[in-house]
Amino acid sequence: MGTCGIPSYPMSNCSWVLYDIPRENRKTAEGKCMYCDEIDDAEQTIFLCHRWQRKRAEAEMVTRSLIVENLVEKMLESEENWTVIENFLVGVMKRKGEHERVEKLV
Ligand SMILES: [Zn+2]
Repeated sequence: MGTCGIPSYPMSNCSWVLYDIPRENRKTAEGKCMYCDEIDDAEQTIFLCHRWQRKRAEAEMVTRSLIVENLVEKMLESEENWTVIENFLVGVMKRKGEHERVEKLV
């Protein structure tokens, strides 16, 4: 396991949030995001990719801010935050996985 990026929290939290995603859902064959051409990884997808800007903004209406440095902190802040962020992460990864499967079929 590499460094986690959120050192004040247990590794298990981080791994659940950022790394516990099936490998095929994380990277395209070229390693580039299919929406914005940046390097495709979980951090790019969740925090930076313009494709998910609206979903991210919806979550941020509840959490007020959502960046890689405060993700776990925000999740632990309240049950509402946890639910909103979890739905956001799961929703994005699910949609992205569906798109990637469709691309492979074409
Ligand atoms: Zn992207």
